Amino acid sequence: MKNDFLNWLNQSGRPFLIAGPCSAESARQVLETAQGIAQHYPKALYRAGVWKPRTRPGSFEGAGVSAFAWLKAMREQTGLRFMVEVATPQHIEIALKHQADALWIGARTVVNPFSVQELAHAMKGVSHIPILIKNPVHPDINLWIGAIERIQQAGVNLVAAIHRGFHKYSNGDFRNNPAWDIPIQLKTQLPHLPLFCDPSHITGNKKLIPYITQLAIDLAMDGLMIETHHLPAKALSDAQQQITPAELHQLISNIRVSQSEEESERKCEEINILRNKIDIIDDELVNLLAQRMALSKEIGQYKFEHNIAILQLSRWKKTLQSQIQNGKTTGLSENFIKAIYQIIHDESITVQSRFGNENPETKGKN
Ligand code: PEP
Ligand code: MN
Repeated sequence: MKNDFLNWLNQSGRPFLIAGPCSAESARQVLETAQGIAQHYPKALYRAGVWKPRTRPGSFEGAGVSAFAWLKAMREQTGLRFMVEVATPQHIEIALKHQADALWIGARTVVNPFSVQELAHAMKGVSHIPILIKNPVHPDINLWIGAIERIQQAGVNLVAAIHRGFHKYSNGDFRNNPAWDIPIQLKTQLPHLPLFCDPSHITGNKKLIPYITQLAIDLAMDGLMIETHHLPAKALSDAQQQITPAELHQLISNIRVSQSEEESERKCEEINILRNKIDIIDDELVNLLAQRMALSKEIGQYKFEHNIAILQLSRWKKTLQSQIQNGKTTGLSENFIKAIYQIIHDESITVQSRFGNENPETKGKN
């Protein structure tokens, strides 16, 4: 399945490339941007939003149907195939009528299984048009996989996923939290699904795009979707994160394409020696954790028999502080030690709370 989609792209290899503006804004903008991309990447898949899902009303909501004439003219002149975002069955109908080459479903649509199911229904019988599915806005891997399954069950053969990061509450460097563990889980569960990274929407800031792009390639993503505009400063949407075709060329030329897992396993004996050492330490870690938990259980029994409260705040604070200190002298960050000890302490409390107070959900399971 992976190869079917990558063959359809008809590019020479990783990183496979999707590029184009956030939104189609005018015939000229669509064409000039495409010419700049095609100069170095004549096989790139051209992206452009025609209907824009804006968080608040009142901003540019896309050029709508009239953009298809610009996109078709662009395809004729540059040879680049194009894809647009669809969020309703009507969008699919219009996009197919105008011979869009591929479609993508955006993060705000993927959150809603009713919407995805309606889109899947509208795709019945058009199995040859690829559909790319962005991750949902919030970090729910099953919602993402569910959307992929709904589209596949409609008979669409060429499906791929796009990682664009997840909504976050706090301010930080990135517009969306990359939460890399989620695309890694997706890769693990669906190894035959092509996976693209969208550093533009993760970063929201062109300065950070090279950093996320390199990470995505190091994490063995198949390709990239990069928002590209011939005049980013004038863009009607997402101006901060769009780059020029020349900057796109610089970005792609600077990527270090790491070797695949199979290649590195064959070539890097040294890594295997280090990995063997890590395996031994991992075995020890789990054994030590089991021993620690057994002691904690004994203490739990004693506390129960002597009516002593399970949570002893001063003891917990002391343990945590002394391990944070220990971490400092051995080069481990405070956040790391805190996170690990939080999990260990939670488990200790769970184990100790079983004396005389069994959780009906887990009764008899441990
Ligand atoms: C887009 O790609 O322009 C877009 C709207 O992205 P997302 O669905 O990831 O927010
Ligand atoms: Mn955008």
